[in-house]
Amino acid sequence: MEVPLLDLKKQYESIKPSIMAATEEVYNSQQFILGPKVKELEEKVATYCHCRFAVGVSSGTDALLISLMTSGVKPGDFVITTPYTFFATVGCISRVGGVPVFIDIEADTFNMDPVKLKTTLAAMGEKQIAKVKAIVPIHLFGQCADMEPILKTASEHRLEVIEDAAQAIGSEYAFRDGTVKRAGSMGNYGCFSFFPSKNLGAFGDGGMVITNSQEIYDQLYMMRGHGAKPKYYHRVIGGNFRLDTLQAAILTVKLTHLDEWISGRQENAALYRSLFKKGGVEELIMPLEKGKRHIYNQFVVMVKKGRNELREFLKSKGVGSEVYYPIPLHIQECFRHYGYREEDFPISVDAAKKSLALPIFPELTEGQISYVVDKIKEFFYRRP
Ligand SMILES: *Cc1c(COP(=O)(O)O)cnc(C)c1O
Repeated sequence: MEVPLLDLKKQYESIKPSIMAATEEVYNSQQFILGPKVKELEEKVATYCHCRFAVGVSSGTDALLISLMTSGVKPGDFVITTPYTFFATVGCISRVGGVPVFIDIEADTFNMDPVKLKTTLAAMGEKQIAKVKAIVPIHLFGQCADMEPILKTASEHRLEVIEDAAQAIGSEYAFRDGTVKRAGSMGNYGCFSFFPSKNLGAFGDGGMVITNSQEIYDQLYMMRGHGAKPKYYHRVIGGNFRLDTLQAAILTVKLTHLDEWISGRQENAALYRSLFKKGGVEELIMPLEKGKRHIYNQFVVMVKKGRNELREFLKSKGVGSEVYYPIPLHIQECFRHYGYREEDFPISVDAAKKSLALPIFPELTEGQISYVVDKIKEFFYRRP
């Protein structure tokens, strides 16, 4: 049996007529840049995320970049994030001249540890503290970081909060008082990616920034179009960060299905959990559900021993898997000049050695999931 890590064809087949109609409308209009289709998607995504404003941009990476540019991070400023994320988070901090200050993750959620955030800031001298401008928490694999203490620390130090919600559209977080908020709507900026493998994926690149601030919205809007307002009067140096009209039309169709696809992923995650439990598999640690609504962009287990061998074995049996991420960012070659040592962030290093993402996309069948679990059991218990 073949169980790919991700197969988008079935999903496409299920919505093909509406996608065709929506794209044909764009072809007929011959309006390919911005326009009402982009506006419509922006409004719908803002509503979906329980947030006031949204600006469609060219990718998740550009969502982060435009947020950092707008937030006024200057060369030499410190920006706090984790070393266990997709490259773009830290790549963008670096591109605006920021210096990444890493906080290790929680071992059970892969997200920023709010206690370590506090202790790191507490250990800084006054001069260093003054340089810290922003925090970029990542809602990794589709589960929100523990935002309440992070937001509290941010407000104590007057830091901008830029949520990297690239993997987490629709994910929810519950505050201690019972308030529930959606990923991206809690900080000053919330960044999404519409890369095809994300829960809401375009037919190419795309992204969005959401915010509850009119002022930030106006600035992001200006920054997306070369910093001009009005046209040809450039107030700041922005760029071409526009979301394609065609992608917006496709995403508007797909957004109406997002909740059912999320439910499919959650059901698949529950099935994995129960099958591994029934099978008495103790060699894997299941991902902890701590947030209010985990949207399972990835289903990532920790393999106590033999992760790479298991991955090879699964591959030989037709099962796709992936390692997110094999090399934490503090030890990437291009960031060597920041001077971090491998042992600075042991939880991230451990996660990079043991984590494994299993197929979780909504169209997987029960039979496919059982097959994955059976092959994993075979690897651990029946190998000759
Ligand atoms: C996908 C992703 C990005 C970048 O998004 P692109 O649309 O691929 O540019 C940024 N951060 C995280 C955590 C991601 O998963």
